[in-house]
Amino acid sequence: MSLLKKFKSKGVEIKKINWIFIVLVCCFCFFVFWNTISVNHEYGKIISEMNDYTECDKAINDFRDAEQYLTNQMRLFAMNFDIDSLNNYYEEYNVVRRRQSALEILEFTHIGDEPDVCLKMALRESEYLREIEIYSQKLIVEGLGNPPVIPQDKFSYVTLTEEDKALSNQQKIQKGREMLYDSVYLSSKERTLKYSSTALNSLINSSINNQNVQNSIIAKQFIHTTISIGVLVFICVVFYFLILFAILRPISKHIKSIEKGERMKNIGSCEVRYIARTYNSLIEKNEIKASVLRHKAEHDFLTGLINRAALDQIKNVFRGSQEAIAYLLIDIDLFKNINDTYGHGVGDEVLKKIGHLLLDQFRNTDYVARIGGDEFAVIMTKFGDSPVSVIHKKIASINNILQNIQDGLPSVSLSVGVAFSDCGYDDVLETQADEALYKVKKGGRCNCSFYKNNSNNI
Ligand code: GH3
Ligand code: MG
Repeated sequence: MSLLKKFKSKGVEIKKINWIFIVLVCCFCFFVFWNTISVNHEYGKIISEMNDYTECDKAINDFRDAEQYLTNQMRLFAMNFDIDSLNNYYEEYNVVRRRQSALEILEFTHIGDEPDVCLKMALRESEYLREIEIYSQKLIVEGLGNPPVIPQDKFSYVTLTEEDKALSNQQKIQKGREMLYDSVYLSSKERTLKYSSTALNSLINSSINNQNVQNSIIAKQFIHTTISIGVLVFICVVFYFLILFAILRPISKHIKSIEKGERMKNIGSCEVRYIARTYNSLIEKNEIKASVLRHKAEHDFLTGLINRAALDQIKNVFRGSQEAIAYLLIDIDLFKNINDTYGHGVGDEVLKKIGHLLLDQFRNTDYVARIGGDEFAVIMTKFGDSPVSVIHKKIASINNILQNIQDGLPSVSLSVGVAFSDCGYDDVLETQADEALYKVKKGGRCNCSFYKNNSNNI
C-alpha cells in the first residue's frame, strides 16, 4: 500500500523498472531455452525408446517365428522324410539363429529386465524342444536305416536308450513322429510360446511405462514453457502500458500544457516528472522575470505609479466605452525652483510624496499615473453626481498637505486641469484638460480648473 502511495506521489522510475524487466525477461528466456532443450532431450529419449521397442518387438516375434519354423521343419521331415526340411531346420538352428539373436538384442538394452528373463526362459524351453526334436530325428533316421543322403554328423552325439535301440525300424520312426506331438512336447512348446508372449507383453508394458514417464516430463516442461511465455507476454503488455501511461500520455499532456503556456502536472514516471518540475521552475523564473519587466515597463521607477505607456493602454480600454470619466492633468508649480534651490534629490522626494498623496486621495478604481517630469494624470471613473466638488476637495486637501509641511521637504503646490467625458476616453480630453491646466497656471497656480463645453452636463 505504501509502495503504491510512493508510486503515486513520486511516479515509477522507468530506469529501474527497465532493469528489472530486462533481468526478468532474460531469466524467463533462459528458462524457455532450457525447457526447449530439455523437451528435445526427452523427445529423443521417446524416439530411442520407440526404436528399441520396435527392434525388441521384432526380435521376440522373430524368436516365435523361428520356434514355429523349427517345429514345422522338424515335423515335415518326420512325416515326409524331406531332406530339405532337415537342412532348413539346421540352417535356422545353426546359421540364421533367430532365437539367439533375439536374446542378444534384448540383452543389449534390457539385460536383467523382465522381458530378458522371460525370453531366456523361453529359450531354455526351446532348447528342451530341440533336444526332443534331435532325439526324434535320430530315431527316424535309424528307423530309415541311416541313409547316406542324410547328414548325420548334426546328431551323431545323440545315443538312443537301450529300450529304443531294441525297437524295430518302423517302431523307431513311429516313436520319433509321436515324440513331436506328445504331451511333453506340446506342453514344452506351449511354455516356450507363453514365456515369449510374457516377454513381449512385459516389453510392451515397460515401453508404455517409460513413454508415460517421458510424456509426463514433456507435459510438465510444456506447462513451464507455456507459463514462461505467458509471463513474457504479460511483461510485454505491462511494459507497453507502463510506457503508455507513465511516458507517452504524460508527455502528450505536457505538450498541451506547453502549447497553452500552463504549468505541467505532476504526472507520469519519475523521469517525466523531473522534466515537468524543471520546466515548471523555468516557467516560474520566467514569470517572475516577466512580471518584473512588465512592472518596470508599466511603472515609474521613482514614484511607483503607472507610467505614460501604461496610462495609454488604460486610455485605450476606455475608448468607445459608455462610462463617464474625468481626466485630470496635474503639474507641480514652479518645480524647477525646488530642484534649483534644494537639489534633484529633494525634488525626487517631493515627486514621491506627491505620488503617495495622489494614491491616498484617489480610489482604487481610479488610475493615477506619472506621465512626465513633474506631470501627473488621473483617470477617474464611477464618480457619482458631483465630481467637480469631489475633485476640488481632493486637490485642495493635497495642496493643503503640500503647503503645511511637516516632513522637512519644501512646500509645493499642484495645478490641475480637468476634463469630463460622458462616454469613455477620447484624445480631446487631453487637450481640454491641458487647456484647463493652462488656465490655472495663468490664474496664479495651486488650483483646479474644469474644462467647460456643451457636450457634457458637468
Ligand atoms: P510651472 O509652474 O510653470 O510648471 O513651472 P515649472 O518650474 O514646474 O516648470 P516645468 O513644469 O516646465 O518644469 C518641470 C521641471 O521638473 C523641470 C525639471 O527640472 C524637473 N524635473 C523633471 N523630471 C524630474 C525628475 O525626475 N526629478 C526631479 N527632481 N526633477 C525633475
Ligand atoms: Mg511644473
